[in-house]
Amino acid sequence: MIKPIIVGNWKMNTNSYEAYEISSYLVNHINEINSVDKVICPPHIYLPTLHNLVSTSNLHLGAQNMFYKNNGAYTGEVSALMLKEYCEYVILGHSERRTIFSENDDLINKKTKAAIINNIKPIICVGENISERESGSAKNIIRNQILNSLKSIDIDENITIAYEPIWAIGTGIAATPEIAQEMMKHIRSVIKNDFNTNIANKIRILYGGSVTDNNTLEYLSLPDINGCLVGGASLDSKKFSNIVQMASKL
Ligand code: PEP
Repeated sequence: MIKPIIVGNWKMNTNSYEAYEISSYLVNHINEINSVDKVICPPHIYLPTLHNLVSTSNLHLGAQNMFYKNNGAYTGEVSALMLKEYCEYVILGHSERRTIFSENDDLINKKTKAAIINNIKPIICVGENISERESGSAKNIIRNQILNSLKSIDIDENITIAYEPIWAIGTGIAATPEIAQEMMKHIRSVIKNDFNTNIANKIRILYGGSVTDNNTLEYLSLPDINGCLVGGASLDSKKFSNIVQMASKL
């Protein structure tokens, strides 16, 4: 069985006190759960402090983004080389990065390569917008996002793919379990057919989009899911703990 993973994407939220409070709660309440990988992705600025806090626990840290160069004249950017001191994971290609910051698959591909070289595990987000879904092109869009983001990469099970339909992110309109399963199955078949059958059976595929502790169970029982990427609900330490606990009971 593939070990499930629950990832919390805090986005540009929390102050330093809140970041510490949420993380302390998680260390105190879900540290004993070893059957699930638990990852929180706070804003970069809190990573060093939180790294000290979680270093003796089994709560892992992830970044929400990074640049693909190690250092240089890239004002405002943070590199994998810098992050690897604090993080084991990095979210790449989140739809907010794609839409607000115009990130494309080519850039995500470069970032993925840089993360891998620096031993940071990439969590690559893919997802269609509402018009792409309504026009019936969602599967093609997702396939292209995967092929382009993973181009020329010798993939292994340290890569995670998160299916996050854009219309479900932060809207409270979560994808139905049927839609989520259909797309996660499709993602696994793309990995199998276009990359590597063996890895397709090991890679973790997540669902993200308005996941809360009220609907998690509906997703976690789907055949092709290996966890969830949680946005808003990850800012509530109790809800996030509940979600991790549900994942541990599978
Ligand atoms: C996300 O930010 O990746 C996300 C899925 O957000 P939310 O859970 O709030 O929809």
